[in-house]
Amino acid sequence: MPKPQGRQWYECMTIRSTKTETPFTLELLVRPAPTLHSCCSPEISHQMDEVSLNTEPAGEDDADGYEIEGDCAMTEFVSQTGIMQGENPLPPSAGMEFDSYEDVYYFYNCYAKQQGFGVRVSNTWYRKSKERYRGKLSCSSAGFKKKSEANRPRPETRTGCPAMVKFRLMESNRWRIIEVELEHNHLISPASGKFYKSHKSIGGGTKRSLQLDSAEEVQKIRLFRTVIIDSEGNRSIDVDEGESGNKVDYSNQLKLKEGDAKAVQNFFSRLQLMDPDFFYVVDLNEKGCLRNLFWADARSRVAYTYFSDVVAIDTTCLENKFEVPLVSFSGVNHHGQSVLLGFGLIASGTIESYTWLFRAWLTCILGRPPQAIITDQCRTLQTAIADVFPRASHCLCLSQIMHKIPENLGGSFEYEVIKAAFIRAVYYSLRVEEFEAAWEDMVQRHGIRDHKWLQALYDDRKRWVPVYLKDIFLAGMFPMQPNEVVSSFSEEFLVKSTPLKEFLDKYDQALQTHHQLEALADLDSRNSSYMFKSGSHFELQLSELYTNDILRKFGKEVEGMYSCFSTRQLNVDGPVITYTVKEQTEVDGNSREMRDYEVLYNPSEMEVLCVCGMFNLKGYLCRHALSILNQNGMQEIPTQYILSRWRKDVKRSYVYDHSCSGIDINNPVHRYDHLYKCIVQVVEEGRKSQDRYKIALQELDGILNKLCITEDCAL
Ligand SMILES: [Zn+2]
Ligand SMILES: [Zn+2]
Repeated sequence: MPKPQGRQWYECMTIRSTKTETPFTLELLVRPAPTLHSCCSPEISHQMDEVSLNTEPAGEDDADGYEIEGDCAMTEFVSQTGIMQGENPLPPSAGMEFDSYEDVYYFYNCYAKQQGFGVRVSNTWYRKSKERYRGKLSCSSAGFKKKSEANRPRPETRTGCPAMVKFRLMESNRWRIIEVELEHNHLISPASGKFYKSHKSIGGGTKRSLQLDSAEEVQKIRLFRTVIIDSEGNRSIDVDEGESGNKVDYSNQLKLKEGDAKAVQNFFSRLQLMDPDFFYVVDLNEKGCLRNLFWADARSRVAYTYFSDVVAIDTTCLENKFEVPLVSFSGVNHHGQSVLLGFGLIASGTIESYTWLFRAWLTCILGRPPQAIITDQCRTLQTAIADVFPRASHCLCLSQIMHKIPENLGGSFEYEVIKAAFIRAVYYSLRVEEFEAAWEDMVQRHGIRDHKWLQALYDDRKRWVPVYLKDIFLAGMFPMQPNEVVSSFSEEFLVKSTPLKEFLDKYDQALQTHHQLEALADLDSRNSSYMFKSGSHFELQLSELYTNDILRKFGKEVEGMYSCFSTRQLNVDGPVITYTVKEQTEVDGNSREMRDYEVLYNPSEMEVLCVCGMFNLKGYLCRHALSILNQNGMQEIPTQYILSRWRKDVKRSYVYDHSCSGIDINNPVHRYDHLYKCIVQVVEEGRKSQDRYKIALQELDGILNKLCITEDCAL
């Protein structure tokens, strides 16, 4: 371990530790805190506005207390403490104990200064006797600005950062840290020397701190670490050596094990050798360490040109803290299978890393973003996507939200009933008003209006409740049934503990599996083994165009036409006729219910629009719309409802297309470059079979001969 550079921390405090003892004691010598005042100066009340208003439900033993949001006395304490000179404070950990509330703040603020983030008092809990008994300090980027605050012309600095410490007063009358989150969702940088309010009067430059310097009293803080967190024994607690201060900050670099860097290098070299159109971008941090990576092979780049309407960005590995911090981009191909469009490895789920990754991908796809992006629910992701893809519709994956129901609502004794009400409101509402009423009824009836998770979901409803998404083309990538699971590349090929090296080794095989599935489906569609479900002309028409997998899905709608009945014309508004179609639908898994579907039909424009929104959500017409077309004597589906993305007769070659525009024929480098790229296509096609190989070889030989003759003539 290298020696720490700065020694200032040790100038103001002495730390002793005994490696073998558990628990062990550290003694920190610091200058005294001034007397605390309960009043607020004008400046302090200004600071109060910035205090996060995140409140949390108090634990069961907190019943005798009340809480005050923010703490003005604390803020004053910090602004008067001119001794923020620590260079290598220990990172906070659960079990550390302090003599006073102020000591905890002081300690966390020193740590924050060293790491490069600001501190905000999130919450202080008071007993009725006005005595503090619990506190929470957060990163200054915690929470989000309230609407009223957002109007002020100040830059947005809040990112909903989770980094914090929670601490409480113990029976021993000491303050113990009970919970710690060290990771930030944004970049923190000690090097930037960024100024935070909480680091005020650092370096003893202000009058106040000079006064403090003249006071020679020394206050002693005892730090106990009752819980040893370090899994490798007591090694890293050797504070006298200053080692713990050198802990690597992994929010700013990829967490690599021995040999990983080499493996990444080999991986990229291999892919590039096999595929000259392989694209990758590497992001290094200021120390030259690997921070983020993005790559996409030629096939993925071409695939995006065919299937660029909807893209899912899968961050499962980061959320579940997998060994491999993989982010994958995927779309859906002409068979409805997932198609891989690019990958990233990122240091952490910060806004900076996500933004970098999305920009890298945007470069790879030549600045043509998808129309819709589907991700998990995550504020950080939302911010980064809004930044890089401002015009794309950002949807939240419904199956992921369903997956989180037990974890968030499981504690309720009415769990099953609430879950059923939730499913009903989300999946079976045909109109916005219907959903709003069903949701309101659910939160009202079960007294869960204040449930934080549900509140956040409700605020985001336009991104995930199907009833709001009908105007966005989603190509069947958005789950529409309660039990529909969206496959994730990460979960297919990785488990939490898969090491990076193993992933890189398996990567080719994983991709091959995907390619083979597509090749098999192509074969299936070419041989036209599709079994007709009905004698319907609609099915016949599409069977000549669409792939079998899509036909099978569409076939269900054609079949469903026969369960629709009692079609009624409601009104006529100019060229548009409104119909209702009745259908017996299955609700909640078993009970059947009669439902009315409103369908708009415009015969002059050949337009048909059903309230169920299936065409946009799935990419083909629903039974209700088909019924109306049928009733109006239409023999064929109008062409605007036949999408080329599902067609089997579109030739999709996965060879990267180099357009020859911009070639300067006088420039030998351009000539070389262009010829090289053209020849790669011959190689790609020629290697596919022995026959092709022979043809390619023969033709190339011919070309070579011709070129030699031309050269001779020229001479
Ligand atoms: Zn933070
Ligand atoms: Zn419909």
